[in-house]
Amino acid sequence: METLEGLVKAHIRTHGPMDIATYMGMALGHPRLGYYITRDPLGAAGDFTTAPEISQLFGEMIGLCLADAWLRAGGPTFHMAELGPGRGTLMADLLRATRHVPHFHERMDLHLVETSPALRAKQKDVLTGHEPRWHDTVETLPADAPLLIVANEFFDALPIRQAVMTAVGWQERVVGLDGAENLIFGTRALPLPLGPAPLGSIHEFSPVREHVTQALCARLAAQGGVLLAIDYGHDTSRPLGDTLQAVYRHAPCHPLSHTGNADLTSHVDFAAMAHIARASGCRVQGSVTQKAFLETLGIGARLSALKAPQLDSGVQRLTDGKGMGGLFRAMAIGSSAFSCAGFDSLSGT
Ligand code: SAH
Repeated sequence: METLEGLVKAHIRTHGPMDIATYMGMALGHPRLGYYITRDPLGAAGDFTTAPEISQLFGEMIGLCLADAWLRAGGPTFHMAELGPGRGTLMADLLRATRHVPHFHERMDLHLVETSPALRAKQKDVLTGHEPRWHDTVETLPADAPLLIVANEFFDALPIRQAVMTAVGWQERVVGLDGAENLIFGTRALPLPLGPAPLGSIHEFSPVREHVTQALCARLAAQGGVLLAIDYGHDTSRPLGDTLQAVYRHAPCHPLSHTGNADLTSHVDFAAMAHIARASGCRVQGSVTQKAFLETLGIGARLSALKAPQLDSGVQRLTDGKGMGGLFRAMAIGSSAFSCAGFDSLSGT
């Protein structure tokens, strides 16, 4: 039977070792056998869970945040877009929470950027009545009106490359084969002018993430709107080292095991995204922790108002500073007319 691991090995035998981005791109996005293409990876029966799957208040707060930004921008006709919508849960919660905002739904049309046929089918079921249009990439999002864009755990799934400091200087970390035909990490020459660093240091970079961010910022600057990105990551110019991680059935595993059957992600470098946004003429808010973002937006007040104690534990999980609330960060990138609430807390680190 054809397996993704088999395809990766055949590729290496023919073309030599591959960079990590090529490996991630094949493992996650191969058109027939890629991890995201072949399954719904979310929830207890899958490999990992996400904020919208933990609490309906996540999508609701994001909906209210975006509707508020839209109102303050004058309430124009606009396109709502989500990048990597998973099961469509966040968007369904966002749309429910905003249905009474005057004219919001009537002036919106809905766009979903999603490569997975399995997840597109789930999104179609959950969002019936809203007639979403699907896109393979951000490039085909419409260009004729402001964009309100939300992306939760999307940027962390985009492929990265890694440079490693060796005895002979910076080299690129690659995936190759050992004598017994097992996948292993190795290194090869890397013509990048990186500065001095201790032996073994790892520097991550993501041309794909940079390209997507660049394309979105150019759109926001030209058409107006805002991108709200939430992901686990860091916001510092200090390199963090190796953040590539693999998860199989809710447990960490080696990134080269379970090829095509494990989720592969890396920490999002928010400082790099902010740099691109400012250079494109956009305003940057944050990043702040998910805890600071949700609490500044008033998740506590909404939870009390709903008088539904069964929702407490989910909100607690999303705002726990030692867990998801501290690991995940939120950032808004917008044109001058669009700014988001949720970023003005003094404790927003
Ligand atoms: N946002 C959802 C799902 C996160 S999982 C949630 O919070 O629950 C990552 C999502 O991004 C999945 O929907 C996956 O299919 C999609 N995805 C991954 N790589 C993608 C790419 N290159 N282009 C478009 N969608 C992608």
